[in-house]
Amino acid sequence: MRNALPDGVERHAFGGDGDGDGDCRLATRGEPVYGEPTDGEWRAWDPSRSKLGAMLELEMETNLAGGDTVLYLGAASGTTVSHVADFAGPTYAVEFAARPARDLLEAAASRPRLFPLLADARKPDTYAHVVESDIDVIVQDVATRGQARVALENRRFLADDGRLLLAVKARSEDVTRDPAAVFDDVREELEAEYEVLETKSLERYHADHLGIVARPL
Ligand code: SAM
Repeated sequence: MRNALPDGVERHAFGGDGDGDGDCRLATRGEPVYGEPTDGEWRAWDPSRSKLGAMLELEMETNLAGGDTVLYLGAASGTTVSHVADFAGPTYAVEFAARPARDLLEAAASRPRLFPLLADARKPDTYAHVVESDIDVIVQDVATRGQARVALENRRFLADDGRLLLAVKARSEDVTRDPAAVFDDVREELEAEYEVLETKSLERYHADHLGIVARPL
């Protein structure tokens, strides 16, 4: 049996002749953001453009239910976080690069629950006055050196029964090392403050990436 998708995320048939034999893809309801296929109010969620999309497609147990409070670290121009804000509750989207943050603002214009924050995820004090505590889910996709440290720094926002959904990019830590060794190190560092519940290679959609689901200790 497939793991349940969050409320507001469905497998939707795009294309085809209307009798359900079209291309069945993950989808949320909202305004399109990155040129993805649409069908009425549904928009396809492309797992090859989104680590969280890949984690759902690969049936990782994200614990996302729909309506959750989310802190999203590394929002870039909003490809993934726009899907999250389509089905989640308040969604705080942290991005420190000004250029993608401009596009993120555009994605947020039609999404009243999406709150873009131009901030450095390594400095949570700079957004602690905005982000509520007891966040249900932290999604992290910063693709930068020190990915475990970012997760540790932001642990303070997470509810006791919350989840960290982390995409680790091995090459961002060290391009010369074996990705498996990098993943081991990241996991070990995380385990100071998190229990790792599940790991899965995202290789089918994203080279040298590991998906991790963890909960706070
Ligand atoms: N998660 C995005 C998506 O799926 O649509 C893609 C994120 S991209 C792989 C990584 C992003 O993390 C970049 O836009 C980068 O600027 C941002 N980033 C890296 N380090 C960061 C930091 N310390 N604070 C905030 N954003 C950071």
